[in-house]
Amino acid sequence: MSVVYPGSFDPLTCGHMDILKRGAALYDRIFVGVLNNAQKRHAFSLDERKSFVELACRAEGLQNVEVRAFDGLLVDFAQACGAQAILRGLRTPEDFTYEAQLCAANRHLAPELETVYLIAKPALAFLSSALVREIGSYNGTIDGLVPDAIKNTIAERLSKR
Ligand code: ADP
Repeated sequence: MSVVYPGSFDPLTCGHMDILKRGAALYDRIFVGVLNNAQKRHAFSLDERKSFVELACRAEGLQNVEVRAFDGLLVDFAQACGAQAILRGLRTPEDFTYEAQLCAANRHLAPELETVYLIAKPALAFLSSALVREIGSYNGTIDGLVPDAIKNTIAERLSKR
């Protein structure tokens, strides 16, 4: 079974990576969909965000993960990948409220496409890309918040913003 794991990944965090590793153990193939949305202002470029996922997956030896950019409807991206389900992570009740709405919209558009959720590891449930951007912009340490393989590149970029 193939799944898509969509997100902004601005930048990739250890929380994203945890979902990815657990997903890669459950499914034959994961297509990470890195959102390319002209209306959304991202701190990192599409190429940077994609390469962070690629580098971190290589460092972890995840061989069934493929990274693709996507825009437009998520259900169209999932169909283009030949995926049967959408994978998402859940951290908080707020995530649940937002995700339930998103899930209903996607079900309306593509009833056959399931959405599956993995609950965040408690130790990583506080972690978001926004938090990494905030800490990094004040030169705080992002050790343990983003994968080691991309830590220095992200820290350097954030300190220059
Ligand atoms: P989006 O803008 O689509 O929410 P994100 O890059 O913020 O994109 O998140 C992508 C997915 O990863 C979402 O399902 C989100 O809930 C999940 N996620 C983000 N951070 C964590 C974390 N610390 N633990 C588990 N899942 C997470």
